Amino acid sequence: MARDRKPERIGPEEKLGDIMSWEILFAICKCEHYAEVNIRALRLKCGGDAVLRKHEPKLRCKKCGETGKSGFFVTKMPR
Ligand SMILES: [Zn+2]
Repeated sequence: MARDRKPERIGPEEKLGDIMSWEILFAICKCEHYAEVNIRALRLKCGGDAVLRKHEPKLRCKKCGETGKSGFFVTKMPR
């Protein structure tokens, strides 16, 4: 993976509505499992004003099954 496409940790105040259409949202677990997040679905559920970090404790890893061990990251879509 190129350096400029390395996923970046979401900011503490970043909202769902701040994610640009050319960005991809990921949930990455402490066990290094990662999954792409469906932004549209999340937005329908939580709204664009949802602060992403507040939803992190609810994230559940599909690999290790742990809740609250994952964080949100963004990366730019490849051109
Ligand atoms: Zn995990």
